[in-house]
Amino acid sequence: MISKSLRIGGMLIGYYRLCPRKAWWSVRGIAMEQESDAVALGRLLDESSYNRSDKHLEIEAEAPDGTPLVGKIDRANLKHGVLHETKKGRSCEDAHRWQLRFYLWLLHRNGVTRADGVPFSGQLDYPLLRKTEAVFLESEHYIELENNVAAISSLAIQEIPPPVLTQRSFCAKCSFEELCFG
Ligand code: SF4
Repeated sequence: MISKSLRIGGMLIGYYRLCPRKAWWSVRGIAMEQESDAVALGRLLDESSYNRSDKHLEIEAEAPDGTPLVGKIDRANLKHGVLHETKKGRSCEDAHRWQLRFYLWLLHRNGVTRADGVPFSGQLDYPLLRKTEAVFLESEHYIELENNVAAISSLAIQEIPPPVLTQRSFCAKCSFEELCFG
C-alpha cells in the first residue's frame, strides 16, 4: 500500500492546499509533463538568478504522529537563516507559503535554528516578477501542518480520488485537467 512508504514533502503539501484531488494523483506517482517543465524552469531560474553561496538543502523529520517528512529546499542561506523557494508566478501563492512553512516546520521539528538561536524564516522569490515575499512560521501553523499531514496520509489510502474542484478557474491551469474532466 502507498501509505506505508509515503514520505510527505513540501510540494505535496502545496498540492493538497490547492486541491486534495491533485495531491491524490501525486501520491500515485502521476506527474504531468507540464508539471515537470515547471519544476525544470524553477530550477533554471533558481540557478541563474541568485547568490552562489546559497545551498540546496535536504531535510528529513517526523510529524508528531510519526509520519516521515522530507524537504528539498531550493536554496538556503544558512548564515542569515533564510530558506528560499523560487516560483514563476503568484497564482498559487497561498500554496507556496504553506510549502515554505512546511520546510520551516521541518527545521523546527529537528530543533535547528540559526547560530544565534533565532528560528529560520522563509522567502518566496518570483524572479520573473522581480518580487519577493517573506514567510514566517508561527505557532498556530504547527497544528495546521500537522492536520494537513494527517489528511494526506488518509488520502493516500483512499481507493477513489477526492471530488473535483467546484471552482473550475484553477483547473484551467492544472495539468491534470484532462484526467479529471476528460
Ligand atoms: S483539474 Fe482541478 S480538480 Fe483536477 S486535480 Fe487539477 S485542480 Fe484538482
